[in-house]
Amino acid sequence: MEKQCERCGNTFQSKRDTKKFCSETCKQYAYLIRHGLNIPRLHIVTNVNDTKQQHLNMEEKITFKQPLIIKLIEDFMNNQRDLDSMISNPDSYWNKNDALMIKWVNMRLKCILHNLIRLSYKPKVFPATLSALSGAMMQFVRSNKYRLLPENYPYKFFIKQLTEKIREVTEQSANYSEIKLPLTQRRKAEFIAILYNLSSVTPLRKFSELTFD
Ligand SMILES: [Zn+2]
Repeated sequence: MEKQCERCGNTFQSKRDTKKFCSETCKQYAYLIRHGLNIPRLHIVTNVNDTKQQHLNMEEKITFKQPLIIKLIEDFMNNQRDLDSMISNPDSYWNKNDALMIKWVNMRLKCILHNLIRLSYKPKVFPATLSALSGAMMQFVRSNKYRLLPENYPYKFFIKQLTEKIREVTEQSANYSEIKLPLTQRRKAEFIAILYNLSSVTPLRKFSELTFD
């Protein structure tokens, strides 16, 4: 039967009535949006030059306008494509011990990225919030599980760099009563691409539910 994708609006063929999305990508975006990430949706732009023409033209031309961030996310995702089996199925890629550690780390990483993106959409962030996140991240990189990660775990260096960056921002924000979290579109896209990679197997836990050491 012909169905319409709930995310992008494209029509697709499906044998099952329950299928809602045209592709794995749309399914994952929908998942991230459901979990509170304010990812811009594709929106339909109607190309109409003047209103007179609008009345004459019964068939309006419809195109999809792609926000920059979606393009950036897709670039990051294309670059991480070969990491897919490492991340989405640790048990098949690493030995049992490493896989356990990686799952532990993935869950924390997911929680941190998710929170950073959420905070970046807020008009104001309290330094105490950043400080709590920064403290957890510092514990995280000092933990045995992080330190014993296999060298080829793809986000090891990323986590360390991010921790340093967040510590800097936290220190800079200490003199203000509130700040706006400075996250560039590119950064945000990188985080979302990593979340996308993590999303299929890593459960999303609240910050307050996790320990980081
Ligand atoms: Zn779709």
